[in-house]
Amino acid sequence: MEQVLLVRYGEIHLKGLNRPYFERKLIEGIKCALIDMQATVRIEQGRIFIWGITEEQRDEAVDRLTRVFGIHSISPAVAVEKDWNAIVDAVKGLMTRTLGDRQKATFKCFSRRADKRFPLNSEQINRELGHELLAAFPQLSVDVHEPEIKVCTEIREKAYLYSDEIMGAGGMPTGTAGRAALLISGGIDSPVAGYLMARRGLELSAVHFFSYPYTSERAKDKVIELARLVSRYSGPVRLHLVPFTDIQLAIYEQCPPKETTVLMRRLMMRISEMWAREDGALALITGEALGQVASQTLESLCVTDDAVSMPVFRPLIGFDKDDIVAIAKKIDTFETSILPYEDCCTVFVPQHPVTRPKVEDLRKSEAMVDFSEMIAKAMADTETLIVSQTGAVEKK
Ligand code: ATP
Ligand code: MG
Repeated sequence: MEQVLLVRYGEIHLKGLNRPYFERKLIEGIKCALIDMQATVRIEQGRIFIWGITEEQRDEAVDRLTRVFGIHSISPAVAVEKDWNAIVDAVKGLMTRTLGDRQKATFKCFSRRADKRFPLNSEQINRELGHELLAAFPQLSVDVHEPEIKVCTEIREKAYLYSDEIMGAGGMPTGTAGRAALLISGGIDSPVAGYLMARRGLELSAVHFFSYPYTSERAKDKVIELARLVSRYSGPVRLHLVPFTDIQLAIYEQCPPKETTVLMRRLMMRISEMWAREDGALALITGEALGQVASQTLESLCVTDDAVSMPVFRPLIGFDKDDIVAIAKKIDTFETSILPYEDCCTVFVPQHPVTRPKVEDLRKSEAMVDFSEMIAKAMADTETLIVSQTGAVEKK
């Protein structure tokens, strides 16, 4: 008897000629999540089987797999030879573990006979196993409508037996949609935006602007930790930490006060686009939501977009803050996001920011300062880290 994790994936998305590509990417995602475990990953007839996970590693492995995009669900299973007595023994063992010390429980058997050479058909398997279980466990009764315990048998290359089905993260395998660059602040919204776009199959680069000494080293560490939390879903994140103090001071000192926030956002977008190009990313992602603050009115968003030519994805555009917080809690970024370290956006906030900026006005204000050298210096002084679930390492 061997332990195996049985993984189902969203077949609907994976039909047609692209299927082998999606499957390969999904397997890469799984291997990356289990990188420090001795796992062997195999595909068989539209299911993925993961061998080599020890009993002690199993919960951790399942937990990590629930964050791999493209997985529909996971079942920890036991595999035995397709010998009837071995199957009956294994099913009884499974029931003993599942029952624990319950005095009473209802169950139902489900089976799939993918190997049609097996002598019993699925109905016969269900019936025979049902009899065996009722005879061995007097506390059991059958409930075909709402069973408390599902006893599932799949007859394939081997016989696989399981009772749990743990829901996966859904979405598309990481990397199947290409790469985009997330503008990541230390707030609640941007990590959620990155998660949602990664769920559609994007690999992530991330760009963070900091204004030392106005923002602290701890604020930077917080962003690295947020990138790490997102990377548990998205796979490794290439994080660019861009020094932004000179540009912010130039805007603050030389441009109209009410426009400073929107100008700052235009420059962030420009530099992010440069890093995106460098990384082969084709789009930018932000955590903006319509109307959330002055820089997120429709007019402000138009002015921001005017600074770049890449598409800008704003997956939270129609979300209320409560909706965003719920996702942040689900993906475990919330507690880190609310740590009270200042962001460079909050350091230089004008008292009366313009809420309906005009593109022409902003272009003019921006032209009052020659930013080209400052941008080149910010790019040159950027520190790039590869952030993965196990931590951050500097990119050579
Ligand atoms: P968050 O959206 O992450 O909670 P926030 O709501 O304070 O932070 P804003 O200041 O309104 O965000 O900025 C909107 C978006 O701009 C963010 O979602 C993020 O994509 C981007 N952004 C803001 N500050 C930074 C920064 N310091 N570095 C990179 N991107 C930033
Ligand atoms: Mg926000």
